[in-house]
Amino acid sequence: MDIDALLLNFLFILLPIFLTYMVFSLKPDLHRHLKTTIITIFSSLSIIMCMNYSIQLVEGFYYDLRVLPFTLTLLYAGHRVGFFVLIITAVYRFSIGGDGFVVTVILFLALFAGTALLVKKFEQSSLKGRLFIPPFIIVLFQLAVVFNYKYIFQHDFHFTFGEWVTIFSINILGMLFVTYIIELLMKITKIQEELVKTEKLKVVSELAASVSHEIKNPLTVTRSIIQLVMNQKDKIPEEKQQYYFEVAIEELERANRMLTDYMTLSKPQVDRIEPIDLSQEVIKTIHLITPLAKMKGIYVKMSVEKSGIIQGDKAKLHQCLLNLMKNGIEAMEEGGTLQVETWSKQSDCNIKIKDNGTGMNEAELKRLGTPYYSTKDGGTGLGMVVVYSLVKIMEGSIDIQSRPSEGTNVVLSFPTIIRTR
Ligand code: ADP
Ligand code: MG
Repeated sequence: MDIDALLLNFLFILLPIFLTYMVFSLKPDLHRHLKTTIITIFSSLSIIMCMNYSIQLVEGFYYDLRVLPFTLTLLYAGHRVGFFVLIITAVYRFSIGGDGFVVTVILFLALFAGTALLVKKFEQSSLKGRLFIPPFIIVLFQLAVVFNYKYIFQHDFHFTFGEWVTIFSINILGMLFVTYIIELLMKITKIQEELVKTEKLKVVSELAASVSHEIKNPLTVTRSIIQLVMNQKDKIPEEKQQYYFEVAIEELERANRMLTDYMTLSKPQVDRIEPIDLSQEVIKTIHLITPLAKMKGIYVKMSVEKSGIIQGDKAKLHQCLLNLMKNGIEAMEEGGTLQVETWSKQSDCNIKIKDNGTGMNEAELKRLGTPYYSTKDGGTGLGMVVVYSLVKIMEGSIDIQSRPSEGTNVVLSFPTIIRTR
């Protein structure tokens, strides 16, 4: 058997899978149709290249691994994509010419029909089932091919039993291997998404403590005002009463605002791209983080000017800013100032988050953003992972400068879509 061609077949199957994974993980927000198109193109290419490197085992009997990508496309991407790929494959097979076109198409139609029946079952299966179904389909298909050649075309193969075992094994083990790789890549993608959620939950629960603490103040103030006015209604002049009520309403407003901001953050993540007024969102985040800062004796200094409209996902931006501000606050155990600044330059909006805390040396700075790297008790080491990935998704950039015992300066830039100044 031509081992080179066989290895090339495997390469043509695995390469598109890795490429698809790369594209999808670099651009997770791609539109569904675009994703489908990419899968269709890659798997068609995969099949066509496998066909180009067929191995002639005996006169008139060609062998290659095209069934693998075809079956997997059908199972993972559904019958619509599978059908498209089938058509493209058939057209290409026709253009090569030679007899066997009709046989190939009939066999593939049978494979298509048989696999389509199993798609639902496959989707609902656990990993074990998912590893079993594709090789199972391949066995049936191989039997059909052999039957077809032997009894319908009356080919005499003269293969020994050992040779049959080899052909079947390559297909079955190959299928098992490729399916396992796909499952592995899908698992990695899932874990990455989980990471983002974990960090979010952590931030939400930590803020809940400080927000609920902070909300007590306005409520207490309002309560004592109402009590005061109620008890001494006759002794307090009218305009003084008016003033007290205004203060009470203001305090309630403040509590309301705090809760609203908090709820925006804890809302389940909606992946929605929308125009965002950057400075407005930065102010919201500062409101949200201020109680936490106060609790730790840290002064939040903000200089936020109207900076322009950027494009992205609000919930994700909040998360990103919060993680950075929280890191700044946590770096200043002995108190200090957290400085937040926004400004715009020609084509981008910038945010600076600066602390005068512990800072990091070069080695630490390099490790920043590596999953689970944390120097804190109870730290997750996911905050910066989330920040980096979100900035990337929103096509922004990040620049971090830090010096041990002096502090850290983080600057984020996002492309402006509308300028507001
Ligand atoms: P966590 O905050 O859970 O530890 P992060 O990914 O947010 O995880 O941060 C990773 C590590 O990077 C922190 O443990 C800390 O050592 C360091 N770090 C991050 N931001 C700062 C900062 N502003 N100043 C000093 N060290 C920082
Ligand atoms: Mg953190």
